[in-house]
Amino acid sequence: MKRISFSLFFLSLLLSTGSVSAQQAQVIAHRGYWTVDGSAQNSISSLQHADSVEVYGSEFDVHLTADDIPVVFHDSKVNEMAIQEVPYADLQSVVLTNGESIPTLQEYLDAAQGLNTRLIFELKSHKTPERDREAARKVVDMIDAAGLTGRTEYIAFSLEAAKALHRYSPQTPVYYLNGDLDPQAVKALGFAGIDYNYKVMQKNPDWFKQAKELGLKVNVWTVNDPAVMQEMIESGADFITTDYPEAAKKAVLLHSSK
Ligand code: MG
Repeated sequence: MKRISFSLFFLSLLLSTGSVSAQQAQVIAHRGYWTVDGSAQNSISSLQHADSVEVYGSEFDVHLTADDIPVVFHDSKVNEMAIQEVPYADLQSVVLTNGESIPTLQEYLDAAQGLNTRLIFELKSHKTPERDREAARKVVDMIDAAGLTGRTEYIAFSLEAAKALHRYSPQTPVYYLNGDLDPQAVKALGFAGIDYNYKVMQKNPDWFKQAKELGLKVNVWTVNDPAVMQEMIESGADFITTDYPEAAKKAVLLHSSK
């Protein structure tokens, strides 16, 4: 009994000084937790499944349709239709692999209201810088109206979109995805961090340290291979974005108990 309370004392001491929690990577479900039976990428059930395994956040992709309805879907095309070039009505009959339809952002946010997981919101690149900005304006307003600003983090490949998201929602963390800017450049833009393909980080291993020194967070995607998972956790990634969130949570736990 004495020994247990002694270790608990040290554990709480470590946690309170931040030396444990600061090192522990957090897990983000990539396109939700869809690798479970009955789910599908970017479906509402994938968001619910991610929430049910208590990950830090659930990532999803948003396009603006030709008639300005934001929808949650990854690819630029579905059934030969370019998502951004058709009206929402044309997408309504599309069925995802689990039988759900393509969620509108509004439906997705409504479903998120009762959940706890953070919303890792990827705004897809649009055709022109103007359209990137219009999409950013629209989604920031919807997140604000839903009262979910404090639970949202934006990510984008388009520098134009990332800048607009940061401008319209300065209090919300914005991460840049494209992998072509070093931590110094990302810091200068005012973003919260880098969210890069793990191969970019393997090529630039000093970016982990540089980011940390600049106060930026590092997220890596899409980390599904257990060996890469371990490598990224050991390298000090703050977030692991993966299609297998439960496996990643176990890997983090294993690492922290070493
Ligand atoms: Mg994405």
